[in-house]
Amino acid sequence: MDSRDLEALRGAIRCIPDYPKPGILFRDITTLLADAPMFQLAVTELARPWGDAGVERIAGIEARGFILGGAVAHRIGAGFVPIRKKGKLPHETVRMPYALEYGVDEIEMHRDALKPGEPVVLIDDLIATGGTAEAAVKLLRSLGAQVRAACFVIDLPELGGTRRLEALGVPVHTLVAFQGH
Ligand code: AMP
Repeated sequence: MDSRDLEALRGAIRCIPDYPKPGILFRDITTLLADAPMFQLAVTELARPWGDAGVERIAGIEARGFILGGAVAHRIGAGFVPIRKKGKLPHETVRMPYALEYGVDEIEMHRDALKPGEPVVLIDDLIATGGTAEAAVKLLRSLGAQVRAACFVIDLPELGGTRRLEALGVPVHTLVAFQGH
């Protein structure tokens, strides 16, 4: 991506201070999604490495990962697998806990969503501490998936999520980095 596209993409993301609570600078991608050329650019860039890479499934994390992941899956001709908050999927599931700031939550997938050995790319809008994505990688691996990479529009590098996923052996691709939280 050239520097003009990068700046345009960065400028399409709205930053909202103190949401959902004081001290958090929320990176809101609804403005990017509503802007047709920017949505197209983000999907093109997220999909770029995977066009001919034999990826059979894109796994997207609820909820913004569904929007981006669905579009990328369609672009590269892969299937889409949703990773959901617990209690939303109707068939037999597998679950993985992950830490929230206060307490623990769980994400889940259908047990039959993937076949062992299947190459998968994980997609979400943003990586912060990496806790959610780490749980998603573990969930995918628990079904035998081969997690080829994790891709995000936004990286918050100071929160260490990228390093955390790389320590698990998962390459990380991000489009735009913001300093701070
Ligand atoms: P983490 O597990 O800490 O990497 O957090 C990642 C998840 O939380 C993603 O699904 C993001 O959408 C959301 N998230 C975390 N921090 C922010 C932020 N500053 N702005 C927008 N979304 C965030």
